[in-house]
Amino acid sequence: MTDCLFCKIVRGEIPSQIVFENDQMIVFKDIQPVAPFHLLAIPKRHIDNIADPNLVDGELLTGLLQGIQQVVTEMGLKENGFRVVANYGRDAGEAVHHLHFHMIAGRSLAWPPG
Ligand code: 5GP
Ligand code: ZN
Repeated sequence: MTDCLFCKIVRGEIPSQIVFENDQMIVFKDIQPVAPFHLLAIPKRHIDNIADPNLVDGELLTGLLQGIQQVVTEMGLKENGFRVVANYGRDAGEAVHHLHFHMIAGRSLAWPPG
């Protein structure tokens, strides 16, 4: 998608702080972090959101999950814990319509979220 914000980040047209990359996905720092660690894991290919049927693809899902597992391991996030969340729609406050998993860590995280 030419005018999608996160597609532009994937193509390097908008600067971002990428901390991990594999064939299927990138992980970069959220521009407005809500915790000491706040990363966004996104597919390189445009997927609308967590409910997009195009997400149900073995290679894509494997790449996404492998990337997330590698990041939480290499960044030491498994020691104290972390949260991975995808917002969908109005009630969840979804703002960017390219699938992204928030990876949040580095402080105590309330549950249930507000
Ligand atoms: P959502 O509310 O859609 O689940 O989350 C979108 C996230 O994208 C927000 O946490 C917001 O701070 C982040 N974000 C929006 N624009 C940019 C940007 O240009 N660069 C980066 N790194 N993060 C962004
Ligand atoms: Zn996109």
